[in-house]
Amino acid sequence: MRVLVTGGAGFVGSHLVDILVENGNSVVVYDNLSSGKPHFLQHHLDSGNAVEIVKADLLDLDTLKENMVGIDIVFHLAANPDIRLGTEVTDTDLKQGTITTYNVLEAMRVSGTKKIAFASSSVVYGEASVMPTPEDYGPLFPISLYGASKLASEGLISAWVGTFDMQAWIFRFANVVGNRGTHGVIFDFVHKLKNDPTRLEVLGDGNQAKSYIEVRDCVRSMYHLVSTTDDALNYYNLGSGDVCSVRRIAEIVVEESGLPAVSIEYTGGSRGWAGDVPKASLAVERLNATGFESAYDSEGAIRHTAKALIEEIGLHDER
Ligand code: NAD
Repeated sequence: MRVLVTGGAGFVGSHLVDILVENGNSVVVYDNLSSGKPHFLQHHLDSGNAVEIVKADLLDLDTLKENMVGIDIVFHLAANPDIRLGTEVTDTDLKQGTITTYNVLEAMRVSGTKKIAFASSSVVYGEASVMPTPEDYGPLFPISLYGASKLASEGLISAWVGTFDMQAWIFRFANVVGNRGTHGVIFDFVHKLKNDPTRLEVLGDGNQAKSYIEVRDCVRSMYHLVSTTDDALNYYNLGSGDVCSVRRIAEIVVEESGLPAVSIEYTGGSRGWAGDVPKASLAVERLNATGFESAYDSEGAIRHTAKALIEEIGLHDER
């Protein structure tokens, strides 16, 4: 298949490209490199794999349409990854989340591309009253601008499926962690320890508890579901079925750092920032019923990631 991956130079996107190539697909990465890193894909270029990188913005609809010609399926992962940004800039998620999804769908309609897989998020559930939260939970009332853009994108995708005879896979990710991570709680903790090896500041009271998924499990499950499920609109939570608290993550990162005396300090309050969902637990029975098995639970994914990011960020390098 010829696959277009928006955001393919990013953290999750580059791992997805790896899986697509391993399965014999040819890949067009469409990425403006705002947070993506070309070196995440360098191994494909060095090996002469069927990976082409188009440095362009999804808001440029003409360029997007040109690159959509001959594409069998789009994996749409590009978005602003920073949920917190919505507390300061209120149109980022609208433009980088909702309008970009409209552009992807419109380019698909014009070029006759029928299949889309979309990186949504557990934040569409908002502060859900049912936990673990199943896919059919509702009504969906997100509490962040990022969450609103994900839900709006899901709505647009469902409308394109209903109106233009398309097929879609909506994936509501837990927090994705792993090597090549460029943001998120473990990334922040390792950077904080690099700046000050004696002290780790944790936003909130540390009792925020969420589901995590290791990035390779995440992209393997995406590929598995696209290959094995065939409804017009397929929608799945992608997670590892349990939760881990921020307090525990801080302890794991400190343990893995090997630093002798770190004082973990909490800023207090039940959430890290306005719009942060303090408790999120995803039900993953539907995913597991398809025969998929995660390699890691949440804590295992966090420990594995802490080791990888301590190495990548160079926590122990001379400053
Ligand atoms: P990332 O920032 O590493 O990847 C996003 C990629 O999109 C980057 O390569 C960036 O350069 C590109 N991009 C952004 N805006 C663009 C635009 N206008 N045009 C072209 N390219 C653009 O983030 P990630 O963690 O890999 O996230 C991938 C997707 O998964 C996102 O949609 C994100 O919302 C979703 N998601 C991630 C997590 C997580 O924990 N990482 C959780 C839930 C959902």
